[in-house]
Amino acid sequence: MFHHVKELQFNARVSEPDVRFAKLLLEQFGGPNGELKAAMQYFVQAFGCRKAYPDKYDMLMDIATEEFSHLEIVGATIQMLLTGVSGELKNAADESDLTKMLDGQVAKENYIHEAMINPHFFIVSGGTPTLTDSVGNPWSASYIMGMGDLTADLRLDLGAETSAKMVYENLMKFTDDVYVKETLRFLMTREVAHYQMFQAALDTIQPNFPPGILESDPKFSNKYFNMSKGENFKGPWNEGKSPLMGEEWQTIEDPIQHVRDTNGLLEEEAIGTDRTDKSVQSTNKKLSSERKDMLERASAPKNGSMSWSVYGDHEKLKKEKNTAVAK
Ligand code: MN
Ligand code: MN
Repeated sequence: MFHHVKELQFNARVSEPDVRFAKLLLEQFGGPNGELKAAMQYFVQAFGCRKAYPDKYDMLMDIATEEFSHLEIVGATIQMLLTGVSGELKNAADESDLTKMLDGQVAKENYIHEAMINPHFFIVSGGTPTLTDSVGNPWSASYIMGMGDLTADLRLDLGAETSAKMVYENLMKFTDDVYVKETLRFLMTREVAHYQMFQAALDTIQPNFPPGILESDPKFSNKYFNMSKGENFKGPWNEGKSPLMGEEWQTIEDPIQHVRDTNGLLEEEAIGTDRTDKSVQSTNKKLSSERKDMLERASAPKNGSMSWSVYGDHEKLKKEKNTAVAK
């Protein structure tokens, strides 16, 4: 269950209202790389790994909950940056004339200008954050990625943290408010922390490459297709050993001829690798049965029913368990 704590995780402050930056910051509220996306992605991924990987479930739920706390910080900051907008809108209903509530012609023109470039805050939301990106596209569940396999999901999460970090880094260039910058720096830093947590968690699952269970085809796993003419660059991506599988890279210098010579790659040979079709099949069998056993052991119903949670005093339960083991 969730329990709302009234204080923000970070003491977010702003110097003064700034409707322009509030609009940009919406990107991290309801945008594709924002806090809601991160929170929902880790939250949804967590369910599937609860039984087989309770430690990763705990981490995913902790990070998801922290992302909700970031969403709250971003929302609060947007609201502070919009100070005055919502009040002025309410006034407008009574006065029906902007000049009456604004101090002079310049203020009125500024107000109308802001309303023109930020219609969302002035016309649609009435001066509160909305679940859209900075140009008004509604938040979408299609931002969420999860494949039901932790070695894949954690890699998707590394991507999510990368883009979230970059959006904060870019946002910081568009405000001079030292307090807002301080909050953005905190939020950006936490994404860097999360990146390392996901990487460390991925490293504890072995083997974890390639993602998922099935091995790749040794005929094609270390081939570099030189798909262009002119200068050919060399680097560890096409020369020496491949970094994760340790196979020797093979460059196909003339892919057109090669495809013709091999009957459309059907007669391709595995070179520069110790893997064979036979070894791949046996590795596939072994890993799928290991992972299947792990899931089945973890999810077998006990005493005719399934329960997600154990209730009671956790310290007491732990002590009872330890005494039982000791006996
Ligand atoms: Mn975050
Ligand atoms: Mn994060």
